[in-house]
Amino acid sequence: MKRIRSIKSMQRVVRELTIKKKRLSLVPTMGFLHEGHLSLIKRAKKNTDIVIVSIFVNPTQFAPNEDLKKYPHNMKGDLRKIKKAGGDIVFTPDAKEIYPEDFQTYVTVEDLTKTLEGKSRPGHFKGVTTIVSKLFNICHPDVVLFGMKDYQQAIVLKQMTKDLGYPIKFIIAPTVRERGGLAMSTRNSYFTDEQRKEALSLFYALETARNMVKAGKRKTAIIEREMKAVIKATCPSAKIEYIAFTDFNTLSSVKSIRKDTICSLAVRVHKVRLIDNMMLMQHKKLK
Ligand code: AMP
Repeated sequence: MKRIRSIKSMQRVVRELTIKKKRLSLVPTMGFLHEGHLSLIKRAKKNTDIVIVSIFVNPTQFAPNEDLKKYPHNMKGDLRKIKKAGGDIVFTPDAKEIYPEDFQTYVTVEDLTKTLEGKSRPGHFKGVTTIVSKLFNICHPDVVLFGMKDYQQAIVLKQMTKDLGYPIKFIIAPTVRERGGLAMSTRNSYFTDEQRKEALSLFYALETARNMVKAGKRKTAIIEREMKAVIKATCPSAKIEYIAFTDFNTLSSVKSIRKDTICSLAVRVHKVRLIDNMMLMQHKKLK
């Protein structure tokens, strides 16, 4: 496994691999890797010859009041995990090279970023789409993999890939959860064991929604009320930012559950902002 730090070296290596007709995949991450990230790397390995994993804590997707400065990192541990999962190249660029002082070009996806996370975190997706398009331009992947955990991000990036004409196959992989159901997230590392149990309230709420749908309930207002009650009961200090029912592809809000409705939520548990989601009525199963 090779670690590459500069854009120029990465581009040179990509050129050489392309000449050799190797198929490349890219798994963009912000590091401090867990099984969720590793599932993407393992899957990439099955799909392509060479797996590139980028580790870059992207400053432009964090608002000034967010956790950029204290975002956890463990490069040594990450490199070990990536190697074990089958990664071939780890791209770890420097923020100064990605965003030189005179940087002034951004990529934005319009409508899909106006709701959910885009509404709660203004400017966030502009940072995400800009860094990912820059990574696409540097790494020229044939396949790119993103997690369903950040579902809106995946949909926004899929749209960007299509709109800008990148010839890249897009894979959205299922959320990997801890044993109790908590979606794996770098931010879970901020919790004590006790708080981690409370963080399960998001999963309990989503399970409640899914069970209600299975039992024939369709009205989102009623399901939402029940989800709020579950969160209140299992994590009294939780602050719900949003609970939303939307169409999987268009992100438009739905009042009555139908095919392809997904429920997403953002909740602050002991000041840590968590997001999670669940398909409530699946059209096509993620594999
Ligand atoms: P991050 O390092 O948080 O930017 O995440 C890098 C990639 O890993 C993104 O595509 C995430 O959606 C994905 N990811 C994060 N957590 C999980 C998880 N629990 N299961 C599957 N994919 C995940």
